[in-house]
Amino acid sequence: MTTKKEILVFNKIEEVRLLVNQLKAEKKLIGLVPTMGALHIGHLSLIEASNKLTDETIVTIFVNPTQFGPKEDFSKYPRTFESDKEKCLQLGVKAIFAPEINEMYPNGKDNIFRVVPPETYTEKLCGKSRPTHFEGVATVVTKLFNIIPAHKAFFGQKDAQQLFIIRKMVEDLNIPIEIVTCPIQREPDGLACSSRNLNLDPHSRLIAPKLYQTLKLVNTEYMAGETDFKTLYTKAKKEIIDQFTEISLEYLLAFNYNTLLPTENLSSNTLVAIAAKIGGVRLIDNIIL
Ligand code: AMP
Repeated sequence: MTTKKEILVFNKIEEVRLLVNQLKAEKKLIGLVPTMGALHIGHLSLIEASNKLTDETIVTIFVNPTQFGPKEDFSKYPRTFESDKEKCLQLGVKAIFAPEINEMYPNGKDNIFRVVPPETYTEKLCGKSRPTHFEGVATVVTKLFNIIPAHKAFFGQKDAQQLFIIRKMVEDLNIPIEIVTCPIQREPDGLACSSRNLNLDPHSRLIAPKLYQTLKLVNTEYMAGETDFKTLYTKAKKEIIDQFTEISLEYLLAFNYNTLLPTENLSSNTLVAIAAKIGGVRLIDNIIL
C-alpha cells in the first residue's frame, strides 16, 4: 500500500481534464474508479486493483440523480465525503473528481442526451423495478469516460447487471477503455459490502446476511449435484426467505453470466442473483456457481 500526503480534489470538469492531459503527456497509465461515495472495502478493492494495474488512480464520487427513480433513496443515500477522502488518501489515489449536480447536468438532469441500453438487458432483474436506472447509469458512465478518458475502468461484480451493460456499451459504442471486473467484497458475516448497509437499522443489519446465505444454499446444493433451479428456488425460499418476514424478496434468479438470459439448468457459467428489501433498504447480491 502506498501512502501519499496529499490528494487532489476537483469539482470542475475542466480541472480534472487538465490533470488527465498532464498524466497522459507523462505517459502515465490511468485507472478510473467510478463510485457514488460512502466508500467501503468493496470500493477500496477497486482502488487497490487500479493501483496494481495502472500508474495513477482517479476516483469519482457522484451520487447520480438520473439513476434513481422518483420514489427511490436519492436524498437518503449516504454521503461521507471527508472520510472517503481520507480513505483515498491512504490508498495513494491521485485525485478525486466530485462534481456538483450542476456541473454534470448544467441544463438540468432531465434535459440531456441519453445513452439507452437495449431493453433485452434492462427489462429484467433490477431493471424491472428500476425501469430508468440503467439508462441513468449508462449515461453518467459515458460522461465520466469522456471527462476522464482513462486507460482502464474498474467495476465490481456486485452490480452484475450494471457491469454486463457497461461492458456491452463499451463494446457497442467502441469506447476506448478497458473494463476490469473486481470480485465482491463481504463483511465478516457474509453480507456484501454496500453503501446502503449504512441505512440498515440494527435489526435489519442482523437479517441482511440471509441474502448471501440464500445464495450459498443454492451453490452448496448445486455442488452436491442439483442442477434444477426451480427445485433450489423452492428450497431456498422455504428454508431461509420465508422464515423472515423482514425480508421482502424482489427476485431470486439464475441467468447465464455471458448472455444475461434466464436459465433453469444450472451450470458453471450461471450467475444466481438476489434482490430484496430489508427494513426499507434495497440490497442486491449474487454468486457465480
Ligand atoms: P457504487 O458506489 O455503489 O455506485 O459502486 C461503485 C463501484 O463499486 C461499482 O463498480 C460497484 O460494483 C462496486 N462495488 C460496490 N460494492 C462492492 C462490493 N461489495 N465488492 C466489490 N465491488 C463493489
